Amino acid sequence: MIGTGYVGLVSGACFADFGHTVVCVDKDPSKIERLNRGEIPIFEPGLDQLVADNVKAGRLSFTVDGSDAIRDAEIVFIAVGTPTRRGDGHADLSYVYAAAEEIAGLIQDFTVVVTKSTVPVGTGDEVEAIMRRANPDAQFAVVSNPEFLREGAAIEDFKRPDRVVIGVEDERAKAVMAELYRPLSLNEFPVVYTQRRTSELIKYAGNAFLAMKITFINEIADLCEKVGADVQQVAKGIGLDGRIGSKFLNPGPGYGGSCFPKDTIALVRTAQQYGAPIRLIETTVEVNDARKLAMAEKIRTAMAGAGGDIAGKTVGVLGLTFKPNTDDMRDSPSLAIIPALQAMGATVRAFDPEGMKEARHMLAGTTFVNGPYDAADGADALVILTEWDQFRALDLTRIAGTMSRPLLIDLRNVYRAGEVVADGMEYVGIGKP
Ligand code: NAD
Repeated sequence: MIGTGYVGLVSGACFADFGHTVVCVDKDPSKIERLNRGEIPIFEPGLDQLVADNVKAGRLSFTVDGSDAIRDAEIVFIAVGTPTRRGDGHADLSYVYAAAEEIAGLIQDFTVVVTKSTVPVGTGDEVEAIMRRANPDAQFAVVSNPEFLREGAAIEDFKRPDRVVIGVEDERAKAVMAELYRPLSLNEFPVVYTQRRTSELIKYAGNAFLAMKITFINEIADLCEKVGADVQQVAKGIGLDGRIGSKFLNPGPGYGGSCFPKDTIALVRTAQQYGAPIRLIETTVEVNDARKLAMAEKIRTAMAGAGGDIAGKTVGVLGLTFKPNTDDMRDSPSLAIIPALQAMGATVRAFDPEGMKEARHMLAGTTFVNGPYDAADGADALVILTEWDQFRALDLTRIAGTMSRPLLIDLRNVYRAGEVVADGMEYVGIGKP
C-alpha cells in the first residue's frame, strides 16, 4: 500500500484484518516512526485497535522503504494524495506518477497495480504508459479501484461498503482482484466490474452528485428563511420520496473536507477540457464557495443586525473540522468563516475535540480553548460549526450565564429553537422560519 494516509492506512488495516499480508509504505518518516511505535497519526474511530491487532498477528507492517514489499507483492495499491494543482484546479497527479515510476522499477513477476487514489479519467492509461516506459519488460496490469469510505466511519464503510467498483480490462488482474475482495464478499455487497475509465469517472460523478445534493438543500434552506418555511421539514418531506432519498439533506455552512472541494473542481476542469462542461457542478462549486462567506455575514447579522458592526466582539466557535469524528482540517468551512469574522474585527475563541492540533497552524490569531464552556465564556455569540456529539447536549443554562450575550448560532441545526429559548438563550438556526 503506497501512501499511508486516511485511505491507505484504513484500507491496509482492513485488508490485513481480512487475512491478507499488507505492508504500508509512506515517504513521510515521522508517520512511519509513529506507526511503528504503535501510535496512529490520524484520528479515526476504531483504527488504533484494528492496527494493533493486525500488527500483532504479523499481517500488517509499516516502512519508509517499500522496495522489498513492492518486489514481492502480487498487488500494489497507489493510495497517495491527489490534491488540487495550484493555479488551474486540475488534480495534481505528481504523487501518483512518482509512485508508478517507483513500482515499475521494482516489480518482478506479474503484478496488479491498483489506483485507489481518486484520479481523473485517463490516469490509469498514463500510469500504464509511465510504467511501460520505465520498465518495458515488466509484467503488470493497471486497475482502477476508487475508494468510497467516509472519514469518521471509515472502517465500517470499508468492511461493509455500499459497493466496490473495479475498473479492469485484464482477465488475470480481474481474478486477482476478485480473490483480494473475496473475504469481504461475505458481507454481500455488489461488486461493479467495469472499464477502467468508467471506474475513474464513477468516483468523481458520485462525489459531485453528493456535493450538489448538499448545495441544493443549502439553497432551499436560504429560501426557507425568506419565506418562513422549515428546511428540516422540507428535507423530510422530499427525502421520503425513494427517488430522492433522505440522506445528505442536512443544511449547513457548506461542504468541505479533503474530497468534495477538490474533486468537484477537478471534474469541472476535466469536463471543460473535453468540451462537455458540467454546468450544474460549476455552479455547485461557486455556490458553495460563496456560502462560507455568507455564513460569516449570517453570524454578523445575528449579532449586530443587517450591516452591523461586530468589531471588538467575541465569537465562541464549537467545531473546526469539516465534520465530526475526524481530525481532518483540509478545506473545512471554518478556515473561511473564522478569518472572515476576524476581518470584521471580531475575536474568535474556538474549540474542537480532535481538530485543534492541525487548526493551530491554519487559523492564526484564534484563541484555542479547552472545551465548549470555555469557548462560550464571555462571548457575544456561540456558533456551532461542526455537530460533534459532545455539542449535542450542552448545559445551555450554564452557558447563558457566562456569555456576554447569550446568543446561539447553530449552523448544523443541532438544537430546537424552543428548548434553547427556554434555557435563556436567543437562537438562530439554518433554514428556520
Ligand atoms: P493523505 O494525504 O492522508 O495520505 C497520502 C499519503 O501518501 C501521505 O501520507 C503521503 O506522505 C504519502 N505519499 C505521497 N507520495 C508517496 C510516495 N511516492 N510513496 C509513499 N508515500 C507517499 O491522503 P488521503 O486522504 O488518504 O487520500 C488519498 C487518496 O484517496 C486521494 O486521492 C483522495 O482523494 C482519495 N480518497 C480520500 C478519501 C478520504 O476520506 N480521505 C476518501 C476516498 C478517496
